[in-house]
Amino acid sequence: MAEEGISKENLRLLVDSELQLDAIHKLIRMPIKDADRFWKYLEVLQERVPWKDKILVRISDKLYVVKKKDGKRVVKCDCGQEFGDYRVNWKLSADVYVRRTDEEIAEVYTTQIRPREGYVEVREFYCPGCQAQLGVEVVPEGYPFIFEVFPDIDGLHKLEGKPLPDAREDWFEDRTPRQTELWVKEK
Ligand SMILES: [Zn+2]
Repeated sequence: MAEEGISKENLRLLVDSELQLDAIHKLIRMPIKDADRFWKYLEVLQERVPWKDKILVRISDKLYVVKKKDGKRVVKCDCGQEFGDYRVNWKLSADVYVRRTDEEIAEVYTTQIRPREGYVEVREFYCPGCQAQLGVEVVPEGYPFIFEVFPDIDGLHKLEGKPLPDAREDWFEDRTPRQTELWVKEK
């Protein structure tokens, strides 16, 4: 029964999208999932990045929340670029390209059904370190950046059985408005 759960090697293949479909189905159908799956997953992720900061959670293909030596929790790209306090939407620290005209939008939407000039804008977010595209949002002009993933990290680690020693309630507090307020005041 020892090998009933997911092996680290299979987890690695899963992360790389190389695990066979039947193996994935088997994992999904397991009536009782192995309890340390989350920790094994973090280990696999940690081995894949070129830096040492401890990964607390992954929030997208390339972005992680990591714990720095000074205790700060920051968003970090796998290339090493950091986006600051994880409680502030990382998009505020990304490079942004905005498409507003029909011509600009048609460069990426090749079908007739596409966002139209005057109704919405297409925002593309890029990593200033490796230039990877990290996100896209289609929203009305002036709409605040969407804060897509804001995980309760302390809650998650507690749920998985290993609460973080620096758990605090104010870790789970969206501080994006504070940052934008500061920018307005500085103007
Ligand atoms: Zn990057």
